[in-house]
Parts: sequence; C-alpha cells; structure tokens
Amino acid sequence: MSDALPPVFQVALPLPPLRLFDYAPPPGHAAGDDDVGRRVRVPFGPRELVGVVAGVGPAEPASEGRLRPVHALLDGTPLLHGELLASLQWLARYTHAPLGEVLATALPAALRRGEPLPDTHAWAWRLTEAGATALPGLRQGSRPRRLAELLSAGDRDEDGLAAQLDDWRTAARALEKRGLVERIAVPASQLAPDPRPGPEPNGEQREAIEALRAARGFAPMLLDGVTGSGKTEVYLQAIADCLARGRQALVLVPEIGLTPQLLGRFRARLGVPVHATHSGLNDGERARTWAAAWRGEARVVVGTRSAVFTPLPEAGLIVIDEEHDGSYKQQDGIRYHARDFALVRGKALDVPVLLGSATPSLESLYNAGAGRYGYLRLSRRAGAARPPAVRVVDVRKRALEAGLSLQMLDAIRAALDGGGQVLVFRNRRGYAPVLLCHDCGWSAQCPRCSAPEQGRPMTVHAQGRRLQCHHCGHRRSAPPACPDCASLGLQPQGAGTERIEEVLAARFSDVPVLRIDRGSTQRRDALARLLGELGDRPGILIGTQMLAKGHDLPDLSLVCVVGVDEGLFSADFRAHEKLAQLLIQVAGRAGRAHRAGEVLLQTHHPDHPLLATLIDGGYPAFAGDEMAQREAAGFPPYAHMAMLRAESQHAEPPMAFLHAARRLLEPPRGAPDADVASLSGPMPAPMPRRAGVYRAQLLLLAPSRRALHAALARAVPAIHTLPEARKVRWSLDVDPVDL
Ligand code: ADP
Ligand code: ZN
Ligand code: ZN
Repeated sequence: MSDALPPVFQVALPLPPLRLFDYAPPPGHAAGDDDVGRRVRVPFGPRELVGVVAGVGPAEPASEGRLRPVHALLDGTPLLHGELLASLQWLARYTHAPLGEVLATALPAALRRGEPLPDTHAWAWRLTEAGATALPGLRQGSRPRRLAELLSAGDRDEDGLAAQLDDWRTAARALEKRGLVERIAVPASQLAPDPRPGPEPNGEQREAIEALRAARGFAPMLLDGVTGSGKTEVYLQAIADCLARGRQALVLVPEIGLTPQLLGRFRARLGVPVHATHSGLNDGERARTWAAAWRGEARVVVGTRSAVFTPLPEAGLIVIDEEHDGSYKQQDGIRYHARDFALVRGKALDVPVLLGSATPSLESLYNAGAGRYGYLRLSRRAGAARPPAVRVVDVRKRALEAGLSLQMLDAIRAALDGGGQVLVFRNRRGYAPVLLCHDCGWSAQCPRCSAPEQGRPMTVHAQGRRLQCHHCGHRRSAPPACPDCASLGLQPQGAGTERIEEVLAARFSDVPVLRIDRGSTQRRDALARLLGELGDRPGILIGTQMLAKGHDLPDLSLVCVVGVDEGLFSADFRAHEKLAQLLIQVAGRAGRAHRAGEVLLQTHHPDHPLLATLIDGGYPAFAGDEMAQREAAGFPPYAHMAMLRAESQHAEPPMAFLHAARRLLEPPRGAPDADVASLSGPMPAPMPRRAGVYRAQLLLLAPSRRALHAALARAVPAIHTLPEARKVRWSLDVDPVDL
C-alpha cells in the first residue's frame, strides 16, 4: 500500500460491472478491516445506492482525485462477515456475476434497501389473572375459550398459536379488549414448547441417525429413502441432536413442500421455536427471521430456496429435503442452485449436509457413487404402510371421457365404495389445452408467444369462455366463432384439471370433488383448509403437481395419473428424470397410512422403456439406465454446462450478440482437448418468442468444471463490453436445469 494515501472502501454495488467501486470513508472515520461486511449508503451519479464494503485498500489509480465519500455507514458491526461473506464471494466467482448483485440477492429485501437490522423479540400471549378467573365463563368450544385454555397451560408464541388454532388472532383481540389476555415481547429462545416424542426409529432409520451422529465436520450424506420411509423422522432426530450440541440447524424445503402441516410437525417435535422463511411472508417477517438467525437466536430455520442465505453463526447441520426438486434453482437474476450452494456453505461451515429424497437427482447419485457423499438408504415404508401397487392402463383405441378411460372410472367408483379417497393427477391446469375449429383446423394461439414456425396454443379456461396463455399470462375471452371460417364449431380439445373436475363432479355427485391447482388454491393455507374440510371422508382430489408432495393424505387409496405421455417425448435431456421423479412422487401419495394403495398410470405407450423400467425396478432401476445414457451421451453429471441466453423485442439482436459471444468463448488454438468447452448454437430458445420477446441461447459443454470456468473467466468480462450486448438483455446460467 502506498504510504501516503489512506485506505478506501471497496464497495460491492448491485450493478452489472464485474468490479468493486471505490469510496472514501465518512469524514473522520479511518477505514479498517473491521469495516468489511458493513453496509453503506453511497452516491452513484444522481442516485443513492446501498452497497456492502467488500474490501479496504488503496484506491484504484483511476478513481484517485475524484473519490466521493460514502453518505453513511449503516451498520455498527459488519452484517456480512466470516463464512457467509466468503461463501457469497465464492458464489459470485462461480456464477461469474458481480459480487454486489450476489449480495443483493442474498440479503432480505428490507436489508437490501438499507433498513436497520430489525428487532427480533418474538411476541407471545399470556392469560391475565382476570382471564384465568373469567375462563370458566367463556362459551365451551368457542374460539376465545379454546385460546384461553391453551394459554392457561402457559404463554404461547404467535407461531405456535397459529399452528394450533386457526383464526386465533380475532379471538386474541377480543379477549385483549376485555383485559383477559395480553401480548408480551419475549426473546425468541425462551419460547420452548414441550417436545413431543416421535416414533421409535426402525433399523434403517437408526443406522442413518447414527451415521449422522458419527459425522465430524463437513459430511455430505445422501438419504435415499422411498416415499413414506421416514426421512422426515431422520431429519427431526438429526436436528434434535444438533440442538442438543448447542448448534443451529437450517432446513431447506421445496416451494410446494413448505406447508403449515410440515411446520406444525417440526414445531411440535423439536421443543424450540422454528423460524420459517418463504415467499409467502412479507419483507419485515423475512428480515426478522434473517436477523434472528444472525444473532444466533433462531436455532432452527426452515425455508425455501433463498433460506440458503441464512446466517448461521453457530451452524451444526444443514438439511435439504427433496434435494432433486426444481424449485431450488433460481431461474432469473443470480441463477444459483440452493442445494449446491448449501453444500458449499456446509463445507465452509464444516458441518454435515443431509440431502434427502425418494428420487435423488442424477447429480447426487453420481456423487454418492463416486464416494463424495455418504449414502444412507431407507428401503421400506415406515410403520404399517405398504408400497402401492402400480398398474399401467393401456388406452390405445379406448373411449375416453375427459381423458379418463372407463377402466379408470370403474376403479374410482370401487375405491370410493371402499371408503377411500382418490387423487386424479393431471399436470395441466385449465379446462382444455387447445381450442380448435372442427371445420377448418384453426386453433387459438397466443399472439405474444407464437413464433412463425411454432404455435403456442392458449389454454381454455372457465368452461370454454376464457383463453389464457400459460407462458406469458395473456388473457382474452374465447371467440364465439372461428376467426378464419366463421364456423360455430369451436371445440376445446383434451382435458385439463377444470374439465376433469366437471366430468367427475357430474359422475360422482355423491362425494366431494375438489380441484387443487394454482387456479383454485392461491394461498399456502387454502390447500390445508380444503383438505381439512374433506377430512377422512371418501372423495376425489384433482390436482397438478401441487398435490404431488408436501401434504400427507392418509386416506388416499387410489392415485390415477393421466397425461404422462406428454413427458415421454421431450427434447430436454432431463425430461425423463423429471417425469420419473414426478411419477414416483405422485404414486407415493397413495397408501401412506393404514390403507393399501393402488396407482393407475394411463398411457398410449404402455411399452415405453421408461414406464416399464420404473414399474419393474422402481426409481433405482430407472436411475441406473438413465445414468448410463448420460455417460454415453456425455451429458451432466458426466459433463458441465453453462447457458448464455439473450432476448430482445427484435428478432436479430439476440442471435447477433450470441454469435459475437461465441467468438470470445472459442477455445484458444492448440488447447488440450480436456480443457476445451464445446459450443452449441447460437440457436433460438425452445420458446423462441415469449410475451412478444425474441429469445436465443448458446450452450457450453465441458468435460470438467475447471474447463468450463476457464472458458467463462476468459470470456465473460469481454462479453460485458460487446457493442452487441447493449441491444439485448442477456444472462449467464452456470449449471442450467432447463435447457
Ligand atoms: P418421508 O419423509 O420419508 O416421506 P415421514 O418421515 O413423513 O416419511 O414418515 C411417513 C409416516 O411414517 C409418518 O406418518 C411418520 O410419522 C411415520 N413414521 C416414520 N417413522 C416411523 C417409525 N419408525 N415408526 C412408525 N411410524 C413411523
Ligand atoms: Zn374455422
Ligand atoms: Zn403468451
């Protein structure tokens, strides 16, 4: 460091350039290493931005003389430091993205905006003396009475109340007005409901629990357990052990998997408050969970993808439930994979990382096979539950009603008569996938998404009255007559969940028929309420993949799967893996408790090898076959990919940009084969036009991660400065999941 000049702040700002920005410390403040990780408010052109001090050192020669001071230091002590900052710096290098944008992605919105770290007192409710006296006078069974009874056993925090009594808040307000209860602030760690003991672990569960107990330091472990085999019980034990050692546990769950049911189970069993974080919470709530973890008050954090950025000053364990789930991959902005980043953090924190799934990703199976992960197997369902019997229903040349064969309808009747519940799985919402003119062949296409060579049908909704594009959300009412030939013979083709509901409700009018998809159940708890109303009565659930996981449906005896054929013939090399996972997960909903389960798979391709292998040998047999095919084709996990994508309102700029980028990514002449990333494209994206925007992509495929990153490190800074880059929106996706 030059001896004359005082050190400056090197600030990470959420801006595209791959560099830090120099600022002078506030007047009178000497920049030092303990400033690293503190947020600052800085002038940037006419604007003010919030950034994070990422380094302290000499100013860049270029910024000397015109160095501006930060407007404010926002944190008394660094907000990001130690492991979390180092891991995020790694993530910036891995995604070839600016550190400032990575940090902005990792911080909860409120902190990103510069708000102070929020207060993390939890709120609890207490029965007052007057309340204890008045309790017997409250109407038996009423909500206020039940609330008062709960509180008479001890103070309860708000999360705990929410799990035990719906609409408790109205009752609490009413009682508060009469002075019978009061709201009190308590440190989160003091709220300790009594843990409820779980079932005695079986042999395989015990082995898994022991293996985790024996783990020292970083230890990735794949828990490969069939649905209902008691993986969650293993998580709960491992978390309990972690808590007993005085450490924090982080649990990642898929977007669909984070249900009130799951949180309730965790809260009831662990005896400590469980902090949740997910997209359904507001900014303040998410910042509070983050802050509670930062302070070490939150001992267990359960959350979806972005929970992987939770600070863990006293980390002891990371669990990733359904590790194969697609929702762990962020699909815009910084395209991180929460599972992969959790492993990086686990290594930096030196703690075990438990990856659980009934259908592990090929990546994780590959790592387990190579000895990089420990491998724990739960091969049988826990308790009394038995695996469901799976049968293929060949529907070639059979009459179908709303896409359902007679054989399937008979099976539904039989299951209902036997007192069971039925799940009809169809991964397509809406009334029908296409509106077709029976006279001239015209069909309704989305005007904003269709490219010349590729139409995008609009989905029919509301019994045929409305059309909606599931790619861009564009809506219109259905035309009364064919726009091409004026025929009145417009017909919805095929069946989505709405139409199946209509047909089944008419045919099985003696039982409740519930449709569960994004259209009918917007909110996380709406699903729980619907299922609660059904209870254990016979009835039919019709659902998309929202129903494939998460909720326990103990009275389900029959699962009918329709529409699998669409997934059998897709260009994406991961399509079969995704379909196999979905089928196993859906089938796994049947027979979870005392009832024997049956699964019917309706298809026009009963001899397709994927279905045959899956039914005969289950997921392991499928995965073995698929792994061999990936190896033969040189695809992940045997190779590493990155995708460069570009889009624009005009057709040409994305291709022009990608051609220019391709020239920068070409390997230097004479480079050894093992170090060469091959390029494929540019080509139009699988959806060449969406919402009026033209899209193209360029794929990099390399034999090793090192080769992939060498190519990217060489080219990405230059790609930023391409003149063609100014005419497009572009993004880089390292380890893309959807091609
Ligand atoms: P998974 O997470 O693998 O789907 P769960 O942990 O949810 O499985 O267990 C499925 C069901 O089996 C739950 O109702 C659970 O309470 C029960 N269960 C799990 N382990 C045992 C056990 N050792 N003995 C009895 N019941 C168990
Ligand atoms: Zn027509
Ligand atoms: Zn569209």
